[in-house]
Amino acid sequence: MTYKTHIISSVIIAEIILPLTPFIKDKHQILFYFIAVFFGSLFPDIDEPLSKISKMLPNFVTYFFNKLKHRGFTHNVFGIFTINIFFLMFFYIIINKYFIVCSIGFFIGYISHLFGDIVTYQGLVLIPGKKATRLGVFKHFLVGSRNESIIYLLFLIVQILIAIAFYLTYRYIT
Ligand SMILES: [Zn+2]
Repeated sequence: MTYKTHIISSVIIAEIILPLTPFIKDKHQILFYFIAVFFGSLFPDIDEPLSKISKMLPNFVTYFFNKLKHRGFTHNVFGIFTINIFFLMFFYIIINKYFIVCSIGFFIGYISHLFGDIVTYQGLVLIPGKKATRLGVFKHFLVGSRNESIIYLLFLIVQILIAIAFYLTYRYIT
């Protein structure tokens, strides 16, 4: 998936999950939640020097990750665990007040990214040394292909509908 498809699909998943996390309720929490979803949805591709996230972050952060094999460590179970624990501690130190909200958002973005990769043609090697996992849905779904543009458009429509629904609900409740 391209970064745009990763962002939009992760944001939609995060919006669906949001009502299940009633402790994320005030405006600031929701803002931090979605910023974290945004970063989490891009972070796994830090193992690709030309990716959006690699271009967004300073060299000293990306240096080590850029040397890794693409869709390797950052896309397997060990990476998911290590990186998310690291960010949990990072958020605790940097933005203590919102660290739970940020950690949940980052995790949701991260997992949604991997889910997005699993449905592509290449699939993902979740456990090193094992065969790639591919979900049958989009077997012939190549990164950047026309199929992907269609999927992106569908997500965009869903996102607009969610935004309208949210706007209407908000208008009639308040
Ligand atoms: Zn990826």
